[in-house]
Amino acid sequence: SARRIYMLTPTKTRSEQKPDLTRLAQTLYLIPNLLWIIIEDEVKPTLRVRKILESFNIPCVHLNYPTPSYLKITANQSYWRKPRGMLQKNIGLDWLRNNTQPTEDALVYFADDDNTYHWRIFREIRKVQNVGVWPVGIVGELLYEGPVCTKGKVHSWFCYVFRNRQFPIDMAGFAIHLRLIHSHKDYYFNVSADSIGQQESHILSTMTTIDELECLANDASKIYVWHTRTIPTYLTSEDRLKRARLSYDL
Ligand code: UDP
Ligand code: MN
Repeated sequence: SARRIYMLTPTKTRSEQKPDLTRLAQTLYLIPNLLWIIIEDEVKPTLRVRKILESFNIPCVHLNYPTPSYLKITANQSYWRKPRGMLQKNIGLDWLRNNTQPTEDALVYFADDDNTYHWRIFREIRKVQNVGVWPVGIVGELLYEGPVCTKGKVHSWFCYVFRNRQFPIDMAGFAIHLRLIHSHKDYYFNVSADSIGQQESHILSTMTTIDELECLANDASKIYVWHTRTIPTYLTSEDRLKRARLSYDL
């Protein structure tokens, strides 16, 4: 039977959340033996998200953690100035450490809610023995970024921006064996200003080395995940209409 995947998804309240989660849930509907750990950026889990999860009947754990206001992106700030979904991923790491056995043969994947996932990426994740890597589409100002590999080993990286990172790779471009989450039990994502953009490199350099990486997706020649981004919708006329209650529950 298929090895289990624990998929950690932080999710932020916004008008595009419900469509984004609907699309992702429909992808996961195709995937057996996956536990979806959803961590809402909220003071408590919302009925809104619970209803989406229940409508799909996907095995899931519904958690929450509100990003403190000093770490939130302000209106006139570039999105990359603040950590995005990192404290929520840390809640997911805690949940794994408290609710799974270190001996379980399972994989952990950090999956943002607005990316696009081909079902085949989950087949690649299940091949991982320690840490697996693969390319990610439309990211880093390129059509794709990813490892350059031969016979399953990484010898360099195809990327341009922030290429001085030790592991220049997006969050969607790797999966880690559950054993490593347990054996590095004090590992958490950092949210300090100088760690922005370094989180992937930091977790990978803590838990593995380049020589150990397992290169997947046919020696990184296939793209099964894309860093799509849903643009914030202009709802200016909502203000003009002055609804009694402007609600994301719609
Ligand atoms: N996110 C969050 N809180 C935030 C910002 C983002 O929980 O304050 C979540 C978001 O829903 C997504 C992930 O963190 O699942 C990454 O955020 P986003 O997609 O905005 O990042 P980007 O695509 O720009 O890297
Ligand atoms: Mn995103």
